[in-house]
Amino acid sequence: MDLGIRGRRAVICAGSKGLGRGCAEALAEAGVDLVINARGAEALNATAADLRSRFGVEVTAVAADIKSEEGRAEVLAAAGDADILVNNAGGPPPGMWHEWTRDDFIAAIDGNMLTPIAMMQALLPGMCERGWGRVVNITSQSVKSPIPVLGLSNTARAGLTGFVAGTSRQVAGKGVVINNLLPGVHDTDRARSLDADYAKSKGISLEEAQKERAAALPTGKYGTPEAFGAACAFLCSVHSAFIIGQNISLDGGVFNSTI
Ligand code: NAD
Repeated sequence: MDLGIRGRRAVICAGSKGLGRGCAEALAEAGVDLVINARGAEALNATAADLRSRFGVEVTAVAADIKSEEGRAEVLAAAGDADILVNNAGGPPPGMWHEWTRDDFIAAIDGNMLTPIAMMQALLPGMCERGWGRVVNITSQSVKSPIPVLGLSNTARAGLTGFVAGTSRQVAGKGVVINNLLPGVHDTDRARSLDADYAKSKGISLEEAQKERAAALPTGKYGTPEAFGAACAFLCSVHSAFIIGQNISLDGGVFNSTI
C-alpha cells in the first residue's frame, strides 16, 4: 500500500531504539524525511546512519532530553515545518502508591504528559495552517487497564489521553489527525528491564520471567517494534484521515473486552 506521505517531514521523539525506532524505520521506508531524537548520541547517530543508507531519506539526529525545555527547543529548531509528530519518551519508574512524593508525580506528569502536549502546541499551528498533519502519541496499555506498580505512568498518561480527546476534535477540521497508540508488552529494552523486575519480585530467573510474561499474553509472545512501527506509519498516512482521537491497543489481545 502506498501511504501517500513520501517527501513529508516527521519528528520522532525518543527514536533511537525500541518502539520509537520502529516508527522511524516504518516512516523512512514510506519515504518520509526524519528528525529523530534520543538522549544518547551514539545509538542515535548509528540509527540515523542506518536509516539514511537503507531508505535514502534525509535524517537529522538531535541528541537531547525531550523531557527538558532546552531539549525540546533543539528538536523543534531542527523540525522546521514538520508534517508528522511521533511523541515518545521513556516511561516513569515502577514503585508503590505510598512511596511517591509530589516531586515524583510532577516529574512523571512533566515527562509523559506535559512534554508531548508542549510538542503538539509547538507543531499543531503550522500543521493547521498548511491544512495537513499527523500526530501519534505512544502511550501505554495502562491507559485502559492500570498496571498497579506503574502508577506514575497510569496517572500521567491518563492526563495526556484527556488532552488528546478534546484537541484531536478541535483540529480535525484542519486536516490534522491525532491518535494514541497503546503498547502492551513489546520486545524492547524497557520490556527487558520490566522482565528483570518481575524475575526479582518472584525470585525466578530472567528466562523464566520472560516465559511467564509471554505466556500471559493471548499471542503467547511479545510484540515487535517493527509491527508497532507499521501501525504508526499507517496512522501517519493519507489513509487515516477519518480516524480521530482514538486510543488503539497494540497489546496482543491482553485488554479483555468485547468492544
Ligand atoms: P526503550 O527504553 O526501549 O526505548 C527508549 C528510547 O527512548 C531510546 O531511544 C532512548 O534513548 C529514548 N529516550 C528515553 N527517554 C528519553 C528522553 N527523555 N528524551 C529523549 N529520548 C529518550 O522504550 P520502549 O520500550 O520503546 O518504550 C517506549 C514508550 O512506550 C515508553 O514510554 C514506555 O513506557 C512505553 N511502553 C512500552 C512498553 C513495552 O513493552 N516496550 C509497554 C507499554 C508502554
